Amino acid sequence: MKITCLHFSVEFALSQRGGRLLIFNGYSYSMQKFKNDNFYWRCTMVQPGTAKRCTAKLFTTLDYKVIDDVGGHCHKKPKFTKRNDTIVRIY
Ligand SMILES: [Zn+2]
Repeated sequence: MKITCLHFSVEFALSQRGGRLLIFNGYSYSMQKFKNDNFYWRCTMVQPGTAKRCTAKLFTTLDYKVIDDVGGHCHKKPKFTKRNDTIVRIY
């Protein structure tokens, strides 16, 4: 039996500089570390008008299933475009 839950689906994208990003619920995250058999991701955006990083975090399993979604976002969702089947974050 296949269970589909859109809320927990993730996608991958590239940043303008070619870094790998994970997209969840329209927000982009970059991998910070590997801990206790899980990946730990941080939101890539900064708070508008400051240089402070958004504090939202995400925990996934090794096969990128979202376990936990911590903290709120203080900015709008980033914009993405598609280039040859690759999703690229514009800003
Ligand atoms: Zn954020």
